[in-house]
Amino acid sequence: MTAKPKKKLALSTQIFIALILAIGVGVALTGNPDIAKNYIKPFGTIFLNLIKWIVCPLVFFSIMAGVISMKDIKKVGIIGGTTVLFYLCTTAFAVAIGLLFANLLKGIFPVLSTANLSYDASASSVNFIDTLVGIFPSNFVKPFVDANMLQIIVMSLIIGFALIMISPRVNKEFHFVNTCNDMCMKAMEMILRFSPIGVFCLLCPVVAENGPAVLGSLAMVLLVAYLCYFVHAIVVYSLAVKAMGGLSPAKFFKGMLPAMMMAFSSASSVGTLPLNKECCEKLGADKEVTSFVLPLGATINMDGTAIYQGVCAVFIASCFGITLSFSQMLTIVLTATLASIGTAGVPGAGMVMLAMVLQSVGLPVEGIALVAGIDRIFDMGRTVVNITGDAACALVVSKLQQNKAARRPLAAGGANNSGK
Ligand code: ASP
Repeated sequence: MTAKPKKKLALSTQIFIALILAIGVGVALTGNPDIAKNYIKPFGTIFLNLIKWIVCPLVFFSIMAGVISMKDIKKVGIIGGTTVLFYLCTTAFAVAIGLLFANLLKGIFPVLSTANLSYDASASSVNFIDTLVGIFPSNFVKPFVDANMLQIIVMSLIIGFALIMISPRVNKEFHFVNTCNDMCMKAMEMILRFSPIGVFCLLCPVVAENGPAVLGSLAMVLLVAYLCYFVHAIVVYSLAVKAMGGLSPAKFFKGMLPAMMMAFSSASSVGTLPLNKECCEKLGADKEVTSFVLPLGATINMDGTAIYQGVCAVFIASCFGITLSFSQMLTIVLTATLASIGTAGVPGAGMVMLAMVLQSVGLPVEGIALVAGIDRIFDMGRTVVNITGDAACALVVSKLQQNKAARRPLAAGGANNSGK
């Protein structure tokens, strides 16, 4: 009798098992978190380092390859415009959901003492103009050294456009860009095979170090934030992928599971980018769209972060005995939407930008100290929402492009017919 070939577990199943194991082992090690910190966390760090290492060249070459494959600057502009519009609208909606639920449920929030709070606001003084200026690089290499994703995107767009403009002469260069892109993709694929191990080693120390007790008095604030994450993802993304992406929400969330679990464990949109790209392409998104829309989203689209900022603003205000007015809430919607553009897709970045949101409505920035202790737990959920929003946008933009392309031959055919 011939032995049956062994069936390999799907990557999503492997990651899911790793996630459950990480929580179980993490809980078992809560009394002894040093074991997790010293012997498990370093392997998670190695995995995340490898992803961070590949993500800059990957974004650089994949956006460039995407741009030159479109062969048309106008088309890039249309995709870019649609993407930014989608991102801004969903983020504004996300803050509004955060504010609405936090206001409705603020009765269950604890009122923590605000005496003796201290938070170094100077470390987080970010303003919009600085963010705008910071998008444009002044050096070719520094964006890679700093892993400054927005500057890398700007560079790859400019070089991609330049290549299109000199296109009749540059077939060799096109080939070079595509080869570099394929090489980065292959390297990324190799690293991603280790994602179950990465997920386990990243999450286990977080559970072991924080333990269930840390949630303590903030459990209700966390609950409201997670409720909003859930509602936003289920309502907004389901509607978007169904109505504009032609995809069933169940299929969408199922296909996104590996990337969502990775985002939960790593709390980094940028770190989840390669896996997100893979999931979106499996769900039918075009490569040329994912190459552009997802890196941009990992950098400027932060719906989960915006929700968190809305909920925390209401919570912090209530601890200081302040009730936010309607115009203050509108200001929060605006600043949190803009803040999300400047929030880097790395752990903890959203908490830094919370300072800008609080300052915009005159709330004391020291209030951040109230939520800082468990930021990681907020962060895991908000990163899941952040990357799911990017994916929903990639699928919608892809579908719109596919529809447009399908109409074009018909229109051309129609014109021919009418010309007969
Ligand atoms: N960790 C989040 C992300 O990578 C950003 C944040 O801190 O809100 O998307």
